[in-house]
Amino acid sequence: MPLHEYRRKRDFKVTSEPSGNRKPSEKATAGLIYGVQKHRASHLHYDFRLEWNGALLSWAVPKGPSLDPAVKRLAMQVEDHPIEYANFEGVIPEGEYGAGTVMVWDNGTWEPESPDVDAALQKGDLKFTLQGSKLKGSWVLVRTRGFGGSSGRSSWLLIKHRDSFASKRDITTEEPYSALTHRLLADIAREGGGDVEKAASGDPPAEGASPGKRRPKRRS
Ligand code: MN
Repeated sequence: MPLHEYRRKRDFKVTSEPSGNRKPSEKATAGLIYGVQKHRASHLHYDFRLEWNGALLSWAVPKGPSLDPAVKRLAMQVEDHPIEYANFEGVIPEGEYGAGTVMVWDNGTWEPESPDVDAALQKGDLKFTLQGSKLKGSWVLVRTRGFGGSSGRSSWLLIKHRDSFASKRDITTEEPYSALTHRLLADIAREGGGDVEKAASGDPPAEGASPGKRRPKRRS
């Protein structure tokens, strides 16, 4: 049931994304999975995922997370994804849903701060702690009014709480590499037979350029 929409949108004969049919295995480590995937699809966005009830609750965050508690980042809730999706890094073929390059930008575990997660989701105010490679500490997802409506998607805001991990530094720009393979989007596209130029447009300007391209201009 929760993965119905996920499967309906994808042709698993074409895309290498997981179908979610794998039986959940005994988990080696305690803790709920958390992950963020940087996805250079038609538009660059960051898919923010939290394991809950056997699937990954998912939000598309166009600008990515901010460590600054004064900055609220729009997060559009999308369909639940299978648990094993958190480790998917590669190229979704052209013509498929979400076509483009996917990077595991962050991974780790999360803990609810809200005592009743289902009630918090229902209410639209979920507080939680992240133990990721990049994102740590206390955060909140708050559902907003407006947007979504007919599309059935709801819009939320992803906000960092004030704690020792809050900061003004721009983490998406400063830490553009895969948490899994330390590659840039352009590397993942090149190695996965994807569109390297398109992928590179999601990497910071100084990085990710294929040799001879997009280097800073030399003064003549
Ligand atoms: Mn996506």
